[in-house]
Amino acid sequence: MGQLYAVASGKGGTGKTSVCAGLAVALAENGRKVLCVDCDVGLRNLDISLGMSDDSGLSFLEICRGEYPLSAAPCHPAYPTLAFLTAPMNCLAGDIDSAAFSELMGHARECFDYVFLDAPAGVGSGFRLVSGAAEDFLLVTGSSPASLRDAARVGDLLELSGKTRVRLIVNRVDGDMLYSLRLTIDDIMDTAGLPLAGIIPEDPEVTLAAAQGKPLLSVRRSCAAAACRRIAGRLEGRYVPVPLR
Ligand code: ADP
Ligand code: MG
Repeated sequence: MGQLYAVASGKGGTGKTSVCAGLAVALAENGRKVLCVDCDVGLRNLDISLGMSDDSGLSFLEICRGEYPLSAAPCHPAYPTLAFLTAPMNCLAGDIDSAAFSELMGHARECFDYVFLDAPAGVGSGFRLVSGAAEDFLLVTGSSPASLRDAARVGDLLELSGKTRVRLIVNRVDGDMLYSLRLTIDDIMDTAGLPLAGIIPEDPEVTLAAAQGKPLLSVRRSCAAAACRRIAGRLEGRYVPVPLR
């Protein structure tokens, strides 16, 4: 069985979509079979971060309804082991049959080494759809106390619903700022009350690559891309230290 991760956060704009695409490409670079699912119903944009917006785009709802088999999910032109399902545009997350979605994700785990669900912001119906189908969570947050508290709140909500395999990815980290605040990895984990899967530095290449419609990991010397590769290594079970500066 492959590993399925829900990439979530409380607030919007923390970098869920960018991280989802970065991890998926990092694992596909290593030949892993990866499925990326945009679960931001009505606001999809994972196709852009993956560099797949030219694709006609098959939505997970069409597969849930049995209109297409999972094997019809389009593959990335540059990373053939990376498949992608987009989010439906003309429906509400609350109207989607969550049992059918969870069943599809169970089937996806049989076909892929990794499945990433790019969750919508907040803890509404889209979040419930995603969290119902996942046991492992990567919460993407900023490094400010407000962001970490937000992540802690989502972690608490997940725990209440029996989901305890939750790890933190701290995104857009300014290493100099952490250094001057003397913030350590332990401080970050203590504030959020969650273990750390990794940190990703602030890097203008993230926005630039998306604007150019190409995957971040195709950008050489991107420090955020390097961080995604390190986190992917940890998901693969390797020991990869977290550099703070
Ligand atoms: P979400 O999916 O959580 O709403 P996105 O991945 O769409 O977040 O990112 C929101 C914005 O932040 C985008 O403009 C993206 O390019 C930018 N961004 C995300 N991560 C980083 C980073 N590490 N460095 C700089 N900009 C980033
Ligand atoms: Mg997003």
